[in-house]
Amino acid sequence: MPLLTIPESLEKGHPADTFRWAAEQFGIDSIVVTASFQNAVLVHMAASTVPGIEIVLLDTQYLFAETKWFAEELTKKLDLNLRIVNPLPHVKADNLWQVNLEGCCNIRKVEPLNRALEGKLAWVTGLRRADGPTRTNARVRSFDIGRNIVKLNPLAAYTDDDMMHYAQLHELPSNPLTERGYPSIGCWPCTRPVATGEDKRGGRWAGTTKTECGIHA
Ligand code: SF4
Repeated sequence: MPLLTIPESLEKGHPADTFRWAAEQFGIDSIVVTASFQNAVLVHMAASTVPGIEIVLLDTQYLFAETKWFAEELTKKLDLNLRIVNPLPHVKADNLWQVNLEGCCNIRKVEPLNRALEGKLAWVTGLRRADGPTRTNARVRSFDIGRNIVKLNPLAAYTDDDMMHYAQLHELPSNPLTERGYPSIGCWPCTRPVATGEDKRGGRWAGTTKTECGIHA
């Protein structure tokens, strides 16, 4: 689908409008929502707007226990249609993250994501411009050329305050790590808490030049 045929109004509309439009346009079975479960906003919006929509958690084998617990709790509380996608069977826990970050992300995140998107027409993510400097150009409507799929980021324009207000309005729980200084949560070997005022994603791959795992290339 050419990007131009996706309504521009989605850029300024309520994020739920994007879910509704995608469900009407592609059908619920052709959409995948990927969620990191660092908060509950995206999955709540997805499941309350399009009940039964598939939500994928990429389980790298290195997720924090808190994140896995949070995903299970939200699945029960919000009746999520959660699909956990694992790395291929030959990928075992190892020390690759210590010596080859790109290679580790490729086999634990990028390849599983590509598999999760096979046969789908639209991919919905929680990408936000407020996430940090690497994401300031994020748009609600985009097209992933490499994967040949419509990529929608309904929360692209949501500020941190918007996220907080949405969570309060719907009385959503938070990932326990948030209160412990983790505004951005990935795998435990590559995520540390950040200090007040520090870039929210500054705790991801800290001390290296890596800023993204590769799924949002
Ligand atoms: S974030 Fe770290 S542990 Fe997780 S897949 Fe990437 S390199 Fe591996």
